[in-house]
Amino acid sequence: MSFSNLGLSPEIVRAVTERGYDKPTPIQTQAIPVVLSGGDIMAGAQTGTGKTASFTLPLLHRLSANKGISSNSHGFPPIRALILTPTRELAAQVQESVRDYGKYLNLNSMVMFGGVSIGPQKQKLRTRVDILVSTPGRLLDHVQQGTVNLSRVEVLVLDEADRMLDMGFINDIRRILSLLPKQRQNLLFFATFSDKVKTLAAGLLNNPTMIEVARRNVTAATISQKVYHVDRERKRQLLSHLIRENKWYQVLVFSRTKHGADRLVKQLGEDRIQALAIHGNKSQGARTHALAKFKDGTLQVLVATDIAARGLDISELPHVINYDLPNVPEDYVHRIGRTGRAGAEGQAISLVCVDEHHLLADIETLIEQRLPKEMVDGFGVNPEIKAEPIPNGRKPPSGGGGNQRTRRSAPKSASSKSPRQPSSRTAAGDKKPGSSSPTPRRSGKRR
Ligand code: AMP
Repeated sequence: MSFSNLGLSPEIVRAVTERGYDKPTPIQTQAIPVVLSGGDIMAGAQTGTGKTASFTLPLLHRLSANKGISSNSHGFPPIRALILTPTRELAAQVQESVRDYGKYLNLNSMVMFGGVSIGPQKQKLRTRVDILVSTPGRLLDHVQQGTVNLSRVEVLVLDEADRMLDMGFINDIRRILSLLPKQRQNLLFFATFSDKVKTLAAGLLNNPTMIEVARRNVTAATISQKVYHVDRERKRQLLSHLIRENKWYQVLVFSRTKHGADRLVKQLGEDRIQALAIHGNKSQGARTHALAKFKDGTLQVLVATDIAARGLDISELPHVINYDLPNVPEDYVHRIGRTGRAGAEGQAISLVCVDEHHLLADIETLIEQRLPKEMVDGFGVNPEIKAEPIPNGRKPPSGGGGNQRTRRSAPKSASSKSPRQPSSRTAAGDKKPGSSSPTPRRSGKRR
């Protein structure tokens, strides 16, 4: 299968070819024909599967093929496509893709998010904007001020809808939906299926095609996963030791909390390791600056919380460190998906103290795999130290074990199986065309 076989225009095929894509990924092969034909889709796919192009390419094709649109109040064509994303970084990244894939087309796009001045956005909205990429909050600010008109939107994309719902955007989304024309195409993407996603889909989608691309194969040979057991008090020293000894030059470190991320940046600085943090309390300028430096290789360590890092496409990242294990086991998969991408070698290391043993057990159950466990010379574990509850986290189970689910429940097929040794499942697509129910098929395969 090639991009031109999928029915995309020569201008779009040229742009993706220049980007170095040889052939469509499974989600692209499945989604592009449906979107081109005007159908709604509900797609389970994570970052790294090529999901952005799976909606952007056919969207660009449709908008450029059909130009007969009247002007808005400023004499420009109205906004024809709206793409909503949960985070600012993802919004910026999606718009970059829209611009890049559409560079040979006569379509204009714009990105909007909070944390930056609203004035320039208002000005830009007075020009021609065919495709608007936005976070929900800032879009509603513009709605309130009467500076955006959504009454002519033909296509709505909800990217990472599950994360938007987890972040409490449901009322914002409902409000935005009420401002859109009833007759439109809806494309809904989620990484993790939940009841909230199901409810949203039921009220939004019209006879959708279900597309489910298998969860990124976390056991892929390109990601080596490892656990270092270490005492709580010595994690920071171990992190500095690993970075220095191994001469790591680009490391993404995950912290469970914003405060923990800031503290770690400070401590790494004391160890003369250059680090910056991205999290929800940082200004947008600081987040953009840190990410740009990290991406261009001038920042050695980026410390991130789960929400801030969600969806970031940092290509060929060599090392991901879980300084803390996440409270939600699915976030482990999202985190380590930052490395070993596009066939590049990657290493995912988790620093685990006694407080986190139950979280590790949850993760191993979810990924159906036992992770190799080691200790680093000079960082042996003191068996006298007892587990303490994690602030804002689930308490360790009193009877050991640790296989209960946290906020989100794992698919049944996962919890009914015991962890097993690494397998080598592929990320093959799994489509159920023409279904009329917005409930995706739950096969034995993990998303
Ligand atoms: P996404 O899942 O949209 O975040 O995309 C992940 C990465 O895959 C991005 O760096 C894309 O540029 C890249 N990508 C998307 N489609 C393809 C393709 N067909 N071939 C190679 N790389 C791709």
